[in-house]
Amino acid sequence: MGAIDLRKIEKWYGDLQVIKGIDLQINEGEFVVFVGPSGCGKSTLLRMIGGLEEISRGTLEIDGADVTSDPPSKRGLSMVFQSYALYPHMSVRENMGFSLKTAGAPKSEIDAKVDEAARVLKLEPYLDRRPKALSGGQRQRVAIGRSIVRDPTAFLFDEPLSNLDAALRVEMRYEIAKLHNALGRTMIYVTHDQVEAMTLADRIVVLEYGTIAQVGTPRELYQTPANLFVAQFIGSPA
Ligand code: ADP
Ligand code: MG
Repeated sequence: MGAIDLRKIEKWYGDLQVIKGIDLQINEGEFVVFVGPSGCGKSTLLRMIGGLEEISRGTLEIDGADVTSDPPSKRGLSMVFQSYALYPHMSVRENMGFSLKTAGAPKSEIDAKVDEAARVLKLEPYLDRRPKALSGGQRQRVAIGRSIVRDPTAFLFDEPLSNLDAALRVEMRYEIAKLHNALGRTMIYVTHDQVEAMTLADRIVVLEYGTIAQVGTPRELYQTPANLFVAQFIGSPA
């Protein structure tokens, strides 16, 4: 569950091509990080996978099924953004359970799933609080918790830690790694932070103006960067 197959994916905004024919197979349970400088197309690619942005050309398969034209709700994925977008008037419990509630799940099931996610994320003491009474890191955990309760086949993260201060970023990076170990789910994680990429990824995809400059394990990219762009970006001595 959670194998994602990109075939010759392109994105055009009018005459401007921002994603230029990307082929990538993501394995079940893999942690894949998209890195690259601002504007290289990381978010666009992630949003196309999530169904928030139309795919101009190419096909997207999830677990062997063609989902290229499916709406986000049919893809079984969940996105976590850098802005937490929590509902200010709802408690942590209500925020985390909201999508299940709107889907018509019974209260007992919602409570059980929220409790389980809160346990994994160490949010149990905060379930009755409003978002404004939480720290930045706690809010980001709630945002991740909202994804967990939906039990997605894969998690899509778009720079989820970029609004946090440096110390909290390190702590949350560790939390996300633990979450991947605990859940064993496919995760696709966008960042422009090399350290995040190197520490979290099973494989890193380096994007350069809408094309893949290199795909490999952190060690492969560091030891044998394909070109100067990758070397400079990864910070290897080559
Ligand atoms: P990144 O996430 O790597 O910073 P983006 O995926 O946001 O990059 O953007 C890739 C390119 O696509 C940029 O040149 C950006 O200006 C352009 N772009 C993104 N969204 C739109 C849009 N809605 N209309 C036109 N151009 C866009
Ligand atoms: Mg972006």
